[in-house]
Amino acid sequence: MNLERYSPKNLRRPSYGYINVHPIQRGGILTEEAREVLVEWADGYSICDMCVKGRVDLLKTPSVQEFKYDVAEFLGMDEARFTAGARHAKFVIMNSVAKRGDAIVVDSLAHYTTYLAAELNELKLYEVPNTGHPEYRIEPESYAQTFENVKEKTGGYPALALLTHVDYKYGNVSDVKKVGKICEEYDIPLILNTAYSSGVMPINGKKLGATFIVGSGHKNWAATAPIGVLATIQEYSEIVFRKSKIKGDITGKSFGMKETPLFGCAPVYGLPIITLMASFPGVVERVKRWDREVDKARYIVKELEKISGIHHIGIKPTQHTLNAFETPSFYEVSKSHKKRGYFLYHELKKRGVMGVQPGLTKSIKINTYGLTDDEVEKVIWAFKDVAASYGIDVED
Ligand SMILES: *Cc1c(COP(=O)(O)O)cnc(C)c1O
Repeated sequence: MNLERYSPKNLRRPSYGYINVHPIQRGGILTEEAREVLVEWADGYSICDMCVKGRVDLLKTPSVQEFKYDVAEFLGMDEARFTAGARHAKFVIMNSVAKRGDAIVVDSLAHYTTYLAAELNELKLYEVPNTGHPEYRIEPESYAQTFENVKEKTGGYPALALLTHVDYKYGNVSDVKKVGKICEEYDIPLILNTAYSSGVMPINGKKLGATFIVGSGHKNWAATAPIGVLATIQEYSEIVFRKSKIKGDITGKSFGMKETPLFGCAPVYGLPIITLMASFPGVVERVKRWDREVDKARYIVKELEKISGIHHIGIKPTQHTLNAFETPSFYEVSKSHKKRGYFLYHELKKRGVMGVQPGLTKSIKINTYGLTDDEVEKVIWAFKDVAASYGIDVED
């Protein structure tokens, strides 16, 4: 065993000091306020010092009890809890609302964690198609069509529907309101996966027709991993946050206060929940500036498309800071480059930009959320400069 490997000097973060445009990294950058509480709350179960009721969401010091309602209000819902991530929240909802063998309908841009949550709950999964290249749009009416298809195949309508508000591949913002309306007409509860939207975009779950909202604290609420949010309406609160009924057969022990799907407490104790709380005021403010982020992203798309052979894919004009591009001109370079597909990653890194997946040159995706104006210019310059250095035309 070489323990030297784990010394602080060997645990330096590779992206430290770089502009990081990796899609999953922008919204999880801590606020100044969250950085301020880091050291004080860094130890193990730090938040449990004053725990009396045995549940983190009932804590008064610090006031998680108030916080869960503030989060619910922020999302336009009635009740909220904290989970180990958006994935855990999805698992819990599916586990609470559907039975083994039931059908769930999900959009075809859904994240792998949606599929795995369905698999672990032994659900049958049916996909809502998208329009394909180049926009990959999910048409709301396709939900109704898919519900009917499920009915034809299985004899009943699905137990649940899920819509990915903003998908991880193209950053498409889907038309939740219309999907919500269709689900309401069919009386099918709707999970809205806001991993790429809540915490950066304004969301009002009830107005959108969502029965459940899942969010990701470490992805888009400026919190330390792992933490997610599960919010719901009154009607479903006692179903998803149901309390334990088990009893020890010898000891007679029971845990009637504990919420079973959350393993008693939310499975998040120290820094994840504290940083989520410390960042919350900043998050409440920043969602109001979302339009400015979209304008910035549109500008970046326009500038990158000046590079010959580079074009944005997904819904146009972009409505999000996560954007995908087809980059055949970089792919051409990679064919004869000694670093092959890795050249783009290395060239960008030399110019101070990280986050484009190493090895990819046919298509790339970047997230520009929260970049300063200087950083925006630096990212654009880096891409254009790499292109120019390999003889790819760049428009003025
Ligand atoms: C990142 C992402 C997730 C996973 O979120 P966790 O909080 O890490 O579980 C789920 N869905 C989508 C659409 C994502 O982009």
